[in-house]
Amino acid sequence: MRPAHALIDLSALRHNYRLAKSLTGCRALAVIKANAYGHGALQCAAALNDEADGFAVSSIEEALDLREAGHQQPIVLLEGWFEAAELELICRHELWPVVHHHGQLVDLREANLSRPLHIWLKLDSGMHRTGFSVAEYPQVWRELQGSGKVASLTKITHLARADEPATGRTEQQLETFTQATAGLEGPASLSNSAGVLAWPGAYGEWVRPGIMLYGSSPFGFAQEQAAQLRPVMQLDSRVIAVHQVAAGEPIGYGSRFVTSRPSRIGVVAMGYADGYPRHAPDGTPVLVDGQRICISGRVSMDMLTIDLTDLPNSGLGSYVRLWGDGLDAGEVASRAGTISYQLFCNLNRVPRRYQN
Ligand SMILES: *Cc1c(COP(=O)(O)O)cnc(C)c1O
Repeated sequence: MRPAHALIDLSALRHNYRLAKSLTGCRALAVIKANAYGHGALQCAAALNDEADGFAVSSIEEALDLREAGHQQPIVLLEGWFEAAELELICRHELWPVVHHHGQLVDLREANLSRPLHIWLKLDSGMHRTGFSVAEYPQVWRELQGSGKVASLTKITHLARADEPATGRTEQQLETFTQATAGLEGPASLSNSAGVLAWPGAYGEWVRPGIMLYGSSPFGFAQEQAAQLRPVMQLDSRVIAVHQVAAGEPIGYGSRFVTSRPSRIGVVAMGYADGYPRHAPDGTPVLVDGQRICISGRVSMDMLTIDLTDLPNSGLGSYVRLWGDGLDAGEVASRAGTISYQLFCNLNRVPRRYQN
């Protein structure tokens, strides 16, 4: 059997969820959209079922899978519905949609709902992706409140730069939120993982941790709270071939890496078809038998090559960790010009194994 696999540590997932709760004292939606950032939504939901206050997903398809698996918690649809026909199912399964644009208001006016909805009304506090503007928000809030179609209204906004220190933008967004929602009672939800970890003033009643649940920091720098996270995914494989090459020899496609010394080159069963980033440059770290060494040569579809010269005791069959405990996925991501979110979401083909 091909040795590549992702080991998913569900006790680390629970630890990280509890950290989000204990840092904030709030109710927390476990954000398990996009198949729980590649970790397996149903397995992650099952692991959190006894303690999660609710889940957040990006579509009704994702939400219905959770209902079918028996999860009874609130499920927030982060972009609400995409077409009015979904409203019937949203009512029937008691899903909590975000309402963020005028087309959805029209759908609601025209809908004959079987029961009133718990709606999360989105304010665009400065990110300019989704949400009603500051000017229109109070009026939309009042229209919904008086519509007879709403069981409760939660105020939600999203922070664009909470992962960066000292841009001033997060303070501005928080100020905008406070002003636009003044006098509109009900719970609020402002924080993603970066907000949970770094912006104690920004919690509201509900927080929405995503990436931190999977044990990866949203920050590009060391951060005290993030240091308490435990990585959930260990992406592992093994060395499947080793060969000795002379100095000056090119390795792999395009001859990107050329040996500067007589070298032992190891081949690892892991490639971009598994979700390992093809853009990882020479020098991207991997752990071999627990020791850090480097990728040498372009990542191909099913394999990548590493320089084993400095590890004389490692070779054929050695264990290789691509990221996880001991090697932060964020570091690999930044080498490859991306973020850990994308590495996790891109996970493909490798079997996931679960550990409780
Ligand atoms: C994905 C998402 C989150 C979670 O963000 P993280 O950075 O992964 O914590 C929170 N809120 C909204 C609206 C989202 O779309």
